[in-house]
Amino acid sequence: GKEKGNVKPQLVALLSPDVLQLLTVIGETAASENQNAFIIGGMVRDILLEQKGEDIDIVVEGDGMALAEKTAARYDGTVSVHETFGTATVTFPSGRRVDFTTSRTEYYETPAALPTVSRSNIKEDLYRRDFTMNAMAASLHPSDFGDLIDYFHGRDDINKKTLRVLHNLSFVEDPTRILRGIRFEQRFQFRMSKETTAFIHYSVSAVSSLSRSRITSEFQTLFKEADPVRSLERLDELGILPIFFPGAVWTSQTKKVVETYLDSPEKPEDLPEWFCILFCLYLGQAGSIPSAETAAVTKKQKSIVQNTSLLLSLLNEKEWNSPGRFHSHAYHIPEEALFFAAIAADHDQAGFLRQYQKKRRELRPLLDGHDLKAAGLKPGPDFRDYLFSIEQKMLDGEITTRKEALQFIRQHK
Ligand code: ATP
Repeated sequence: GKEKGNVKPQLVALLSPDVLQLLTVIGETAASENQNAFIIGGMVRDILLEQKGEDIDIVVEGDGMALAEKTAARYDGTVSVHETFGTATVTFPSGRRVDFTTSRTEYYETPAALPTVSRSNIKEDLYRRDFTMNAMAASLHPSDFGDLIDYFHGRDDINKKTLRVLHNLSFVEDPTRILRGIRFEQRFQFRMSKETTAFIHYSVSAVSSLSRSRITSEFQTLFKEADPVRSLERLDELGILPIFFPGAVWTSQTKKVVETYLDSPEKPEDLPEWFCILFCLYLGQAGSIPSAETAAVTKKQKSIVQNTSLLLSLLNEKEWNSPGRFHSHAYHIPEEALFFAAIAADHDQAGFLRQYQKKRRELRPLLDGHDLKAAGLKPGPDFRDYLFSIEQKMLDGEITTRKEALQFIRQHK
């Protein structure tokens, strides 16, 4: 049933006067058309947690688009309508944005067989949401401003610091909610209810229906907001890590690699965080890097996986001490792969790799084709080999000046 409760005191205490006034006006405008407007979702949750809600979501029993237009007109805002979602965003001159949605309307047959439009149903809207704490609304109507609509006992769950889904098929409907749940647990220091955890386990087969891009974007959000190590620990505890990324494991070894990555001062810039962290879960397992390709989405990511794998087998072949000789196998390997191989390799190998990487980065050509011609060489494919040999000698510290490079050419032509 509908829980009693009113959050007006919290709204007054937590919101700035202009936001409070805006909500009042929205409620009054809707009421003047015999409609009801509510704040809904994350904002209501944040208010009950005594946090300032940043995003304002309004749901209207009536015409959300029209209310958006009126609100924008009154405050000199602009409206953008998203037809497919049936939502409108009002952007105010201050930059603040408010989303308006029309609560779904149900049609059903009356006994007299005349189709009737039921009163638009906010319960329906709330029922489609993820967790009880996100499934509350508060009225903006002047007659009951602040009255809480809480069909699923979200307020009780907030008081108990419990994260609870609304029904047993919630994760089957949308398995990304599993990752949202882990994120909310950490953000608010909540804990999933026992049944919620059980529902996760019933839903594992539904994860395969998610597209790679939905999975990876949820992981990106999770890692950005929460502590990646704790999130991975939680995924492991729930036993669902390999469901999202087959072959990924959480062991003391992979944990160490993840931590080394997170502590690295110079992380690869052009790779998304989710990929880097996930890749570490494969890198920490001796010999199973190729399976990391399942976690690589783009061509670039696949190339990083392959090249890192190539580097690690190169390092295992023998003990390297000449960066110059190593260069002939590794000159084409991208920086990012050097980075990942270094965080996965043992201490000495990592030291060698970092030294190679640093020297390679500092390489500046001492000679060009004109110099070779001037030194009496015939232009041709040999040019490249000569220049490469000089690079190798530079990496080994045997050539440091232009003069030494020219001398090398004269000796070897
Ligand atoms: P945040 O502070 O991270 O923005 P939020 O709760 O506002 O938290 P949003 O992702 O903006 O998060 O979602 C807004 C609301 O929409 C949520 O409170 C929830 O009610 C609902 N919602 C969002 N994503 C889902 C989902 N995957 N399944 C069900 N409901 C969702």
